[in-house]
Amino acid sequence: MHVPDWKGPLAEAFDQATDYLAGLPDRPVGPEATAEELHKEFGGPLPEQPHDPRLVVRELAAAAERGLLPSGSGRFFGFVFGGAIPAALAADWLTVAWDQNAGLYAAAPAAAVVEKVAGEWLAELFGLPPTVTAGFVTGAQMANFTALAAARHEVLRRFGWDVERAGLTGAPRIQVLVGAERHDTIDRAVRFLGLGTDNLVPVPVDDQGRMRSDALGAVLAEEAGPAIVCAQVGNVNTGAIDPVGEICDVAHAAGAWVHVDGAFGLWAAVSPRLRPLLAGVERADSWATDAHKWLNVPYDSGLVFCAHPEAHRGAMTVRAGYLIHDDAGERDPLDHNPEFSRRARGFAVYAAIRSLGRTGIVDLVERSCALARRFAERLGADDRVEVLNDVVLNQALVRFLADDDVTRRVVQAVQDEGTCWMSGTTWQGRAAMRISVSNWSTDESDVDRSVDAILGCLTASS
Ligand SMILES: *Cc1c(COP(=O)(O)O)cnc(C)c1O
Repeated sequence: MHVPDWKGPLAEAFDQATDYLAGLPDRPVGPEATAEELHKEFGGPLPEQPHDPRLVVRELAAAAERGLLPSGSGRFFGFVFGGAIPAALAADWLTVAWDQNAGLYAAAPAAAVVEKVAGEWLAELFGLPPTVTAGFVTGAQMANFTALAAARHEVLRRFGWDVERAGLTGAPRIQVLVGAERHDTIDRAVRFLGLGTDNLVPVPVDDQGRMRSDALGAVLAEEAGPAIVCAQVGNVNTGAIDPVGEICDVAHAAGAWVHVDGAFGLWAAVSPRLRPLLAGVERADSWATDAHKWLNVPYDSGLVFCAHPEAHRGAMTVRAGYLIHDDAGERDPLDHNPEFSRRARGFAVYAAIRSLGRTGIVDLVERSCALARRFAERLGADDRVEVLNDVVLNQALVRFLADDDVTRRVVQAVQDEGTCWMSGTTWQGRAAMRISVSNWSTDESDVDRSVDAILGCLTASS
């Protein structure tokens, strides 16, 4: 058998990776290269001949270098990205080296068991019923998709319809009730599932973007029939949390399924201080969250939980003659997620939980929230800045000189200046800057340096 040189390319990757990571704190937080430059770096004719693997890695790193967005920096506050804690990153490397196909227990015994264990730990951390089933997917988009597939299965089953067999043609109409400020991945999941965006029923929200549970009752009462209610824990702009307990009361009384999109916000359930904001979340029927956001596990890592194992498996399961299914009781991951072959992403989640422990996760979550409040307090102390949200989680939303143009210019100037990176948004029709504190390495000095940079850009832009 041919014995390849593993050490050459892997040592090169190790050196390149550790140089990159060590340089993050001092690096400007933004990509340096233009698209044109990147096309030039990577472009060229299709390679005809083999090339030394070590050089492939070295040249790849050199070509990518100026086109990387340093989102692992402690001063990256864009979107809700999060970085990667060392244990999770290293476990992800091993995952790739082991290259397990995590679809089946028979194909990846350790991966299957790690997912079972990590899924149970996560349910305990979030305070969900111990009987929930868990699926390891690519992100909250696919977690929403998987959960809504289980919901579709169950709400139609209750109306005597087997959607897996009969499809949706001729099925009772399913209403999907959503807050007016839901995440767009809900709409996309509804499209993927053939539920149709015409069947989305928006429920009014309050000034922070929270679904109004009183309004939900009125909307539900208008039509009998299968219904799914999508609550949100953590609005991407404001961090606002829907009153999930009240939503469960109203929705369950009407026989509806409650799904919770908690891509980042569900992590607040881990903190005893923040938990009251999510009161009743354990009574929902399904939950979506991400490990790659607030837990700081590398991409891609999403999680879905379901309180109805039959519905979860009913929507996802697959049996094929050439596969080896473990009907003796070990969990086959592919019964819980839409992928067939896939990487063993449970190892990195497991490593993150082992590395941080419950107290470390609570600390990460509470620290991020405190740093978001620090942003809001320090920026809000300047009378040119308006803080637009109640900073309940890790999101702060600000606006400059009450002016859309100035606000957009400041967002652009901050991105160009390089001390920190924030993204812009539109909130209630007005331009705003979003500040998301999601990185484990961010500390107070990062916030203070970033505030100074933002105020400097504001002075220069107005
Ligand atoms: C980020 C986010 C999503 C999508 O998550 P991905 O991991 O990017 O698929 C869905 N819902 C909410 C509330 C989010 O913040």
